[in-house]
Amino acid sequence: MDYTIVGFPRLGEQRELKRATESYWKGDISREQFLDDVKEQQVKQWKEQMKRGLKQIPVGDFSLYDMVLDAAFLIGAVPKKYKELKLNPVDIYFAAARGYQGKEGDVKALTMKKWFNTNYHYMVPELDDDNQFALNFGRLSESIILAKDNGFNVRPVVIGPFTFLKLCRIKGSRVFEEYVTEVTSVYKDLIQKIGDIHDGWIQFDEPYLVRDLTADDVSVFVKIYTELLADKKNKVLLQTYFGDVRDCYKEIISLPFDGIGLDFVEGKKTAELIEKNGFPEEKLLFAGIVNGKNVWRSDYSEKLKILDEVKKKTKNIVLSTSCSLLHVPYTIAHETKLGEEVTSQFAFAYEKIEELLELAKLSTLDSYDGEKEYIKNRTICDKRVLRTEKSVQERVDALSDSDFHRMEPRKERQELQRKVLSQGLLPTTTIGSFPQTAEVKQNRSRFRKGEITKEEYDARVNEFIKQCIDFQDKIGLDVLVHGEFERNDMVEYFGENLSGFVFTENAWVQSYGTRGLKPPIVFGDIKREKPFTVAYIKYANSLTSKDVKGMLTGPVTILNWSFPREDISIKETMYQIALALQDEVLDLEKAGVRIIQIDEAALREKLPLRRDDWYEDYLDFAIPAFRLTNSKVKPETQIHTHMCYSEFEDIIPAIDDMDADVITFEASRSQLTILDSLKKNNFETEVGPGVYDIHSPRVPGVEEIKMAIRQMLEKIPKENLWINPDCGLKTRGNEETEKSLINLVQAAKEIRAEV
Ligand code: GLN
Ligand code: ZN
Repeated sequence: MDYTIVGFPRLGEQRELKRATESYWKGDISREQFLDDVKEQQVKQWKEQMKRGLKQIPVGDFSLYDMVLDAAFLIGAVPKKYKELKLNPVDIYFAAARGYQGKEGDVKALTMKKWFNTNYHYMVPELDDDNQFALNFGRLSESIILAKDNGFNVRPVVIGPFTFLKLCRIKGSRVFEEYVTEVTSVYKDLIQKIGDIHDGWIQFDEPYLVRDLTADDVSVFVKIYTELLADKKNKVLLQTYFGDVRDCYKEIISLPFDGIGLDFVEGKKTAELIEKNGFPEEKLLFAGIVNGKNVWRSDYSEKLKILDEVKKKTKNIVLSTSCSLLHVPYTIAHETKLGEEVTSQFAFAYEKIEELLELAKLSTLDSYDGEKEYIKNRTICDKRVLRTEKSVQERVDALSDSDFHRMEPRKERQELQRKVLSQGLLPTTTIGSFPQTAEVKQNRSRFRKGEITKEEYDARVNEFIKQCIDFQDKIGLDVLVHGEFERNDMVEYFGENLSGFVFTENAWVQSYGTRGLKPPIVFGDIKREKPFTVAYIKYANSLTSKDVKGMLTGPVTILNWSFPREDISIKETMYQIALALQDEVLDLEKAGVRIIQIDEAALREKLPLRRDDWYEDYLDFAIPAFRLTNSKVKPETQIHTHMCYSEFEDIIPAIDDMDADVITFEASRSQLTILDSLKKNNFETEVGPGVYDIHSPRVPGVEEIKMAIRQMLEKIPKENLWINPDCGLKTRGNEETEKSLINLVQAAKEIRAEV
């Protein structure tokens, strides 16, 4: 049996692409040098793939910044403002990706958006009226030729026209249908041109097909591909991922594709679709059975069972990954500190190709039980029972309904809290972090390197806390924060202080452009060994007569920004984390902390792509997991939460159901609409929609903030409104932060006098 992959990471094993790109941006290396580095990196990756037996190598998945942006440039869907910059093509591309400011012009970047249900972010292409589509085959053809010249058998990969169009933002007056015709014709041109230099397969990625599709969507899809596939010379693979194609399976198998790539990991109905509708004899099934999104070794027995079923319907199978390997790190080989027992459990990109090789071999045998690859895999998977914290599992099993609810109704709690905490109208607060200055970072890095002791480190953190509290006191904020100077990152810090997570040295995954993240991995049962935030918060509270919020990251966010286990449900892991946090919450309360904020910045991240699955597969346990963290606190303890993107209009009832007393969120971009929906839904949680944008160094004036507050007061009862910036201040500098907060307090004071 043959095997392949959907796509590969590109940051570089040692983040070579990141380094080269950033050096180029800084002007440290020339464009020629940069493009040479890129070529070298591409060839190196292809070699590694070939070394592991891939006969056909995807080409075109290697992007300088983002694959959707690549597709936009490939077909000429680029706004004039970029095209017109008097810059060379590479710099025009980067201008669209990151904005450009110079003598040639001043343009903002395209917007960035989450790529389906992953932590990768793509650039949203814009279509305006004067857009002139035209094939711009240069970069892709260079890659194809480069690969061919180096002796690789290639399969060009491009984001398909349907997904591309669905992801675009239409800015002009023309309607979607008009673009369909034009875009299809450029793609048609593309197929021809590829055919001129290449006679094998072409892959079109169409992940949008796994979303809920309307009948119109399906007919657009059919129309596009009927046109595209007519008199093609090459073989065409339709690649889908991140779910199943239940809304268009029949159409897909009726179209003249030569291969169809389906996701057997996230596609709940993939197997069933094949079972019920069959699979056409003349086509190849690219069966995505190795998980492209997680880092655990595959369980071969489970994978082979799936294959056995599929084989009853078709024999023409190519094994593949469930999606591009973009979402996992390169190789476990660079992890030197974790030890064999841990690393043997993981398969990153290279190791996943090796798994495909072994699975391909095993799946052709009548019986595989005695094969050495199979036995080795069994041993590894059996060791997963490593999750030894029985007490944690028992605690989760023993949970009952009452564990998920605070006893008193929210309205009563809120009244009581305002009284006990002496909170007047329009209380002011911030989201948690204060600027992570060079001194703050240096303190942490000196401690990590062993240059200072824990005592010295903490003493310095306490100095930062004291300055921070003094400042907030001085300018008259109502509810204070300690500033988070002991935290590198809101998830990593919690992972490090709870047992059950492992951390890698080099397992970078691209988040966007040159930015990589190293997500913690949930390895065993999760438990809190001892309090870890209490001392800092207690100290901060001792410095002022005002309340300082306890500050925690919530269970949903911790899990969503980690690699989860595959053999334990997300629900169970979230509950484990929630219980660990519950211990911390109760210790904070015991230490006299009267307000506790539990951030759920990433609440929406794993919301299923299909609406039907929203509650059952996610919200029905994610929301309770949050409640579990604070269900046991006293009614007068005020629970806050914070969410980053106000992209939650469609799940407002679920947010209210978190039963927090106060929520703060980012609103500067979609302020008005979100306020309307809060009102319409009778939102009960008190709210602090951010009154200014912290993602920019700009200092908002008093009048500007007052205007924002007035707008909010039109939609939100004054008793329910809080005044705060829209997110944490850690990326800002001290100077602008101080000025902005002084203005915020002043604005709140003046508005209070008005109402
Ligand atoms: N409390 C965190 C902070 O202020 C929240 C960060 C976030 O929302 N991403 O930094
Ligand atoms: Zn935020």
